[in-house]
This record gives sequence, C-alpha cells and structure tokens, in this order.
Amino acid sequence: MINLVLFGPPGAGKGTQSAKLIEKYQLIHISTGDLFRKHLKEGTPLGKLAQEYMSKGNLVPDQVVIDMVDDKIKSSGNINGIIFDGFPRTVKQAEALDALLTKNNTGITALVELMVNEDELKKRLAERAHKENRPDDAKPEVIENRIAVYKAETVPVAEHYKKLGKYSAVVGVGDIEQIFTNLCREIDNHLLSK
Ligand code: AMP
Repeated sequence: MINLVLFGPPGAGKGTQSAKLIEKYQLIHISTGDLFRKHLKEGTPLGKLAQEYMSKGNLVPDQVVIDMVDDKIKSSGNINGIIFDGFPRTVKQAEALDALLTKNNTGITALVELMVNEDELKKRLAERAHKENRPDDAKPEVIENRIAVYKAETVPVAEHYKKLGKYSAVVGVGDIEQIFTNLCREIDNHLLSK
C-alpha cells in the first residue's frame, strides 16, 4: 500500500493537492476536517462534539479522532492506499496511526510538508472563509489560534516522521501544477527507497 501524510498548516493547500494525488496514485482520501464537517452537517453527536473545538480553532481530543479514522479505514475495503490530510495532528495521533497501519501489515510511506509562509496562509484562509463558508477561517482570533496550535501540537509530528526517514518538504506557494510535480517527485523517491 502507499500511505501518505500530506502535511502543512491550515491553508497550505493540502485539500487541493490531495485531490490530484488520489487520482495519480489511486488512493482514498481521509481528511479528518472534512469528516467532522460532514458529521456536523448531518447533525450527529460526533459532529456536535467536534464543533465545540472547531469553532475555537482547537483540536478535537485525540481518541475521538483516532476512533473515527480507525472506523473509516475498516470500512474502506480493498484499497491501494490512503492519503491522510489534516491527520495526524499530534504525536499521539501519529503513534496511534503507525500502530493501526502496522496491524494491517502496512505503514506510512512518506510525510510530505507543504511549506507556506504565515502572511500567505492568513490571506488564503480569509479568502476560503468566503468561498467555502468555513466559519473557522473567518475570525482572525480563530485563525491565530489554529496557527498557534499547529506550531505547538502538530509541528512535532513532522519530527516524528523525520526520525523514521519518511519526511520531505516542498514549497507550497506558486503554480499548483508545479507544486504537484514537486510533490510527486518527493513521493516517488520515497517509493523507490521503500
Ligand atoms: P481542517 O479542515 O483540517 O483544517 O480541520 C478543521 C478543524 O477540525 C480543526 O481546526 C480541528 O478543530 C478539527 N480537526 C481536524 N482534524 C483534526 C485532527 N486530526 N485532530 C484534532 N482535530 C482535528
């Protein structure tokens, strides 16, 4: 299986690039943010719980996220691999994911980070708030908190995969096709060294 983590702060372009990567590598897409938004739209208890955290830009508790991802993987059937988008967001989630994949005789192929500077991120999030009706992108204080939480809780996830030799980074600003080409080059290198 090919299991990729597309990594980067809110607004880095993970959703846009995931859509292209799933097509090229024939993967399924697991975006925990999208899954929570779906639950919220459907009014499930999980959606209501997640909303309390999402509206403030905080992380939903690890075990809630891990159980949701576990369910999603179990219900996915026979697949070529998975692209994880917005997950894992803490080292505890990364360790749980590694254990889950090991149990299924597979593992993470690579974590690829999209690097985008903070001014550009804030600009993109403000635009997305209007286009996609994402209230968590609309309020400056929520955006600030999401970026602060990313630095404190999520950046160590990159370190975790660096230690395992699974980390790469590409510049996430510029032409979407060029960013995609650069991402594929990094992924293919990890596939060759598997
Ligand atoms: P995203 O669409 O990935 O930016 O996620 C939107 C919000 O959903 C985040 O700000 C969190 O509140 C919540 N969320 C999404 N993924 C996770 C995760 N892996 N761990 C904890 N909370 C998450």
